Amino acid sequence: MLKINKINNVTCAQGIVEDRERFSSVMVYLMDGLLIDTGSPSLIKDFIPFFESEDFDQVYLTHHHEDHTGGAKWIQDHKEKPIYINEISVDICSREGDYLPYRHDVWGDREAFQAKPLNSHFSTRTSKWEAIPVPGHAFDQMAFLNYSEGYLFTGDLYVTPKPKMLLREESVPDIINSLKRIQNYDFTDMFCGHAGHVPNGKEMLKKKLDYMEEISGKIMNLHAKGYTPEEIKAQLLPSKHPLVEISGGEWDTLHFVTSVLSKVELNN
Ligand SMILES: [Zn+2]
Repeated sequence: MLKINKINNVTCAQGIVEDRERFSSVMVYLMDGLLIDTGSPSLIKDFIPFFESEDFDQVYLTHHHEDHTGGAKWIQDHKEKPIYINEISVDICSREGDYLPYRHDVWGDREAFQAKPLNSHFSTRTSKWEAIPVPGHAFDQMAFLNYSEGYLFTGDLYVTPKPKMLLREESVPDIINSLKRIQNYDFTDMFCGHAGHVPNGKEMLKKKLDYMEEISGKIMNLHAKGYTPEEIKAQLLPSKHPLVEISGGEWDTLHFVTSVLSKVELNN
């Protein structure tokens, strides 16, 4: 199912995957002839009429995850528009998506496509943009800033101000660095890959920064007192969320602890 709404000159298309137990959604944005992200492979039937009817010149992908790159192959084959991504994941995109079965169940099978390395500064029909590296959720993640409106398209940098769990590949120290870097930019509204339009985007990203720094500090304190990662998790971030088991531990609160401690050990 697709829900479309307009915020000023941004078209926001929310693709919703419905299955028995879960409800997952992902955003695709269109502004000034620029398509940002392409939804998941499991939503391609819903997105095709949108891609067919909307007028765009180029596609920028925030990161390589299958819920953001799922429509790229269809666009490549049917619209012949250039597709850009961080150059470090051009190679990953040129192969079929390689991820765990539970993600194939929800998001589908991401087909291979040919992306080009994105430019750090680029133009659309009437405006200028900057691509800002914001790794942490994914190593290749970029945010796209539209200078004229002060709009920031953040992929999965935000999602929620207080994440309950992290993916194994996520890094709290990298997320903190990215959230700090983004505070130096001039923007108001945020367009998140899952949470949609957030009018007070800069403020909400600061809230997430504060939360991640607080958690990180507590983890380091307990580590200094000699607690093990499992003990720190049990004390600070106990969780019985079903996704831990469904994902075979790819999602877990433990990844907060291990990612913070891996940087502590590097610095020692
Ligand atoms: Zn992602």
